[in-house]
Amino acid sequence: MYKMVIGLEVHSELKTKTKCFCGCKNEFGSIPNTHCCPVCTGMPGALPVLNQKAVEYAIRAGLAVNCRINEYSVFERKNYFYPDLPKAYQISQLEYPLCVGGEVEIETNGVKKTIHLDRIHLEEDACKLIHKDYGTLVDYNRGGVPLIEIVSKPDIASAEEAVAYLKKLRSILLYIGVSDCKMQEGSLRCDVNLSLHKEGEPLGTRTEMKNLNSFRAVQRAIEYEAKRQQEELEKGNKIIQETRRFDDVTGKTYSMRTKEDAQDYRYFPDPDLIPIEVTKEYIEEIRSSLPRMAKQRAEEYISKLGLTEKDAMLLTEERSVADYFEEVLKDCNNPKFVCNWILGEVFKKMNATESEDIKVSAKNMAKILNMYNSGEIGQSVARKLLDEVWDTDKDPAQIVEEQGLKQINDEKGLEAIIQKIIDDNPKAVAEIKAGNQKIMAFFVGQAMKATSGKANPKMVNELVNKLVK
Ligand SMILES: [Zn+2]
Repeated sequence: MYKMVIGLEVHSELKTKTKCFCGCKNEFGSIPNTHCCPVCTGMPGALPVLNQKAVEYAIRAGLAVNCRINEYSVFERKNYFYPDLPKAYQISQLEYPLCVGGEVEIETNGVKKTIHLDRIHLEEDACKLIHKDYGTLVDYNRGGVPLIEIVSKPDIASAEEAVAYLKKLRSILLYIGVSDCKMQEGSLRCDVNLSLHKEGEPLGTRTEMKNLNSFRAVQRAIEYEAKRQQEELEKGNKIIQETRRFDDVTGKTYSMRTKEDAQDYRYFPDPDLIPIEVTKEYIEEIRSSLPRMAKQRAEEYISKLGLTEKDAMLLTEERSVADYFEEVLKDCNNPKFVCNWILGEVFKKMNATESEDIKVSAKNMAKILNMYNSGEIGQSVARKLLDEVWDTDKDPAQIVEEQGLKQINDEKGLEAIIQKIIDDNPKAVAEIKAGNQKIMAFFVGQAMKATSGKANPKMVNELVNKLVK
């Protein structure tokens, strides 16, 4: 039985205002080749100047995953010749990275596991190549954008663990606000190193799959590549150390080139950049600015707000959701109720509209929930209001006023409506009397219909029970 040994190299673009070594804008989606200058296009004689914010963000990321921050680290040139690299080298780090060690805790199928990190280093992104039928275009806007590379130890043993690890990293980076982690825009992408071996035997030869940019691609690439390697090994063939490309359409991996070793890149310290030296005080200053992270918030939600572990985990997975939950609580202090509503109705709405954000302000959400909680509106109206204020963020109280959506809690009025339904449906009444209790639902439904869904459902139920005798 073969075991998978997987290590991930995750690249995350930092959301600084400007690039890593020049003043060009760091912005996705602009007109190609509008954010470039002599430095990031590698003109002879142009000199790089380090962006301090990029260093701060990289340290922030390191601290969030318990790395040790090196007070002394060095930029090196990684030399290779390719059109996405105008200088013919990438400024990166090798011998002395900014952050070393660290760990990320993951959970798959209820089992917790720690994935250890090797390092996090700071580097610049390469340019973007756009392949067309008639040739390849180069967009220099991405060239020189600051990037952290998070290198894990080969602690990952399955596709599920790899995806869980990647999701956890993404959540952490979003919490600390250093990257927007948009996989579809390439600001979070990953390389997978994978090999197989049998228990007790030495590690096998690994292959590397580059630039996977969705959780699904990571999952499929690992599953396919493990199967391919196993088949090769069973045939008695050797695995070749190489870089392979995963094709999203066929779901297969293809050989691209034999893998370079570090020595092929002729790394050497960049003579244009002095080493990065940071003080202990500076590191501690950054540490003290870290926000409350998912784990801490989840613990608080369980111990102070009485939520279940499962709910707390779901609420804190994304910082934006956890922040939102806390904002709504300020105006609607009923944690369990707010939690249920966010995990239920709000998540459903986000899925249905394919939106990544909650498109109602916390203030207005609290208004809806307060009206619902106090019985002023019913559940169906609360749902309808969510639909109406989504995107527009109109005042829900005003909509209730304008459209007359208040719940009918007037017992006398409802009694008259239900009595009329009973009088009009003698056959149904006879069926109930004959023992068919299911028909009760018919009366409740009719009463809700007669009041356009505004009747208090609990009251309707009670009245139907009382009147059909
Ligand atoms: Zn530039």
